[in-house]
Amino acid sequence: MPRILKRAIPCLLALAGLALVLPSCSNEFRKRVETDTLPVTEDKERFTVKFSGVSTILVDDGRTQVLIDGYFSRVHRSLFNTMAPDLEQIVAGSDALGIRDFECINAVAEPANTCASRQYSGLSVIIPAHGHYDHAMDSAIVAARHGAILLADESGRDLRAAARTFVGDNCDDCDWDRVAPSEYFDSGAQNARSFGAGSFKITLYRTEHFCSFITEFGAGNNPEDIVLPTSLFGMKEGVAVSILVEQGDKGLLIVPSSNAFETVVAEHGIKADVVMMGIGGNGWKSKSYLENVFTSLAEEAGAKRIIPIHWDKDSTKLFGEGHDSQNVQLEPSAIMRLDRTLAVMDSVTQEFAADVGFAPVIDAFDPFAGIDS
Ligand SMILES: [Zn+2]
Repeated sequence: MPRILKRAIPCLLALAGLALVLPSCSNEFRKRVETDTLPVTEDKERFTVKFSGVSTILVDDGRTQVLIDGYFSRVHRSLFNTMAPDLEQIVAGSDALGIRDFECINAVAEPANTCASRQYSGLSVIIPAHGHYDHAMDSAIVAARHGAILLADESGRDLRAAARTFVGDNCDDCDWDRVAPSEYFDSGAQNARSFGAGSFKITLYRTEHFCSFITEFGAGNNPEDIVLPTSLFGMKEGVAVSILVEQGDKGLLIVPSSNAFETVVAEHGIKADVVMMGIGGNGWKSKSYLENVFTSLAEEAGAKRIIPIHWDKDSTKLFGEGHDSQNVQLEPSAIMRLDRTLAVMDSVTQEFAADVGFAPVIDAFDPFAGIDS
């Protein structure tokens, strides 16, 4: 057994043990998902969002789509199994979200990387938030199936090569040569970058990944010759980013994973009406840590709504045969101490006249509903 796995086992056993002694740590959270889920919308023309668990988020202006992560495989994970993309889930998940093939308006044969961003139609850009399996494992395949630009770092490009080899001839509609992957940033020194996609302005912010004694096992970059399937910690973090999606005066900030995110808000003076915030693991941080993060979102960034993401048990399959794509439910993780994080979110958002809302699963919703001026 590799040394890194030997080191991880006591940590994971400790977490499992804590989960047993904290049986009620997601009961309130579960209730709130039922009562405070935002309404679905039929309006497909302006700025809608679809969410399918972890931090897979599709934004759509009715013509142009941008996808965060696109993790549909939702593989079983443990220290003892290996993981690889599940093509059936990827196809079914992409269909369930209504992902459309890329076309360049008025020049349909033009690929996404040479098409003017205002002419984007369908899935134009996919942004894995970092290199871990629950974000990046499926991204390259989704990009290849729909002709989208894959924005990634070097690790993401190496993972793309591994995914291409893994699916081989099994993916009839993958076109790996249509669009080459692009870099998050122009250089290692750059920590923010903006670009257009249809009516959206997208800004990436380099963001420190959530930090705990577990995450050290997944830090660093992928080896150039990474092969799929691989182990739980085989897909390395690489560079992590948060994503601000703006349209006119509306701003949606997506933070899949972060450590002390208030430093990023302060450094860039980020403003956003709504924040989709990854909270997995936050329940194990101190109360003051959580207060600092949520206060900076509500006070400094001016968020009127916080939508928790990355809270579900991610090894539950949602799509494909035997699954009802009209009635998809997410199961709150039993080990994330979600009630604790929710209590701090509630007290901070109340102080700043903001709210906590939950994203519907699969169906389109307007994240700004009820807070539009
Ligand atoms: Zn991660």
